[in-house]
Amino acid sequence: MNSKISLLLVVTVMASIIFGVFYSYFLLTISENDKMAINEPNLKSEFESIHKCQCVAFRLDDVQGYWLNEVQIAIIETFQKKNVPLTIGIIGGEKFQFGKDLKISNLIKNRLAENPSFIEIANHGWNHEDFSTIDKKIQSELIKKTNQRLYNILDISPKVFIPPYNKFDNNTIIALKENNITHFSSMLETSTPPYMFEGISPLHFPETATTGKIDTTLGIFSKISNQETLDSIKDSSDKYGFAVVTMHPQEFSIHEKNTAYTNSVDWENIEELEILIDKIQKLNLKIIFLSQINQNVSDQTMDLGNEMIMFTEYKSYLNHLILGIPIGILLIILLVMMRNKIIRQKLMDMVENRGE
Ligand SMILES: [Zn+2]
Repeated sequence: MNSKISLLLVVTVMASIIFGVFYSYFLLTISENDKMAINEPNLKSEFESIHKCQCVAFRLDDVQGYWLNEVQIAIIETFQKKNVPLTIGIIGGEKFQFGKDLKISNLIKNRLAENPSFIEIANHGWNHEDFSTIDKKIQSELIKKTNQRLYNILDISPKVFIPPYNKFDNNTIIALKENNITHFSSMLETSTPPYMFEGISPLHFPETATTGKIDTTLGIFSKISNQETLDSIKDSSDKYGFAVVTMHPQEFSIHEKNTAYTNSVDWENIEELEILIDKIQKLNLKIIFLSQINQNVSDQTMDLGNEMIMFTEYKSYLNHLILGIPIGILLIILLVMMRNKIIRQKLMDMVENRGE
């Protein structure tokens, strides 16, 4: 008798599980909500854009002649020494004397000749003007003049633009197109996401981190901690899929009595910069030119997106299974009870028939 009961129990449990599995599979195929969850386009695109580029681009602003040139050289040489790419924003106007101060222009020229893989030249305005306040035609002329002058000095026509003060307007975009600029970089505060990796021209990758900031009480640029810079890099990598780190030469100069910049290199800060580069590389973030951010697309992105979608499908299936198994058990109990009732009825009928 006992063995009969346990066999019945096993059969009941097995049957209800099988029922539950089929029931949940059936619900999954007819449920529109689940289909939507599985094919949710937002889920897919979100993962695609977030993980596009595991990279960091460094941009050195305000490069010019006869101004902190020892400091500018020390920064550029740090990147050269470590074989790491650097995008250099040069102010083109004659007043800023790039090309006259041969110390800085010849260094860049020679390094470019030795190996062009580690220096990218960017246009940083003609007289470091606020482009958002300038007429469209003039904006285009200023970009053109800087590009021509840099071509005369370095034999390179920049494809990257860094708007001075990070300020620009719609006319700037038109002016950039007119001058075959493919990339530009302002800052998060003066721009609106999403920052596309394709489909628009010029592509916009704003500054998302810095190595320094202006001390509001002293009114001068100072270097910030590597940890602060790294936190911003990690944040923007997660949020936008890339990071752009802006540097200013002032941060690496020794400040006289905390008020004026001098042309003496702050070697401690240069050493910190080297440590920062090492730490970024240890995080498996590739350091590249600003114009390469869109080219450094990671394949892992698509896999991650698909895994996420499969997980959603699996989760919906599990939800139905949790409901399907108890319903199956209830149905089997009901069937057994009905069967017992029918048998009892039959027995009673037989007893009654005999009695007659
Ligand atoms: Zn600037």
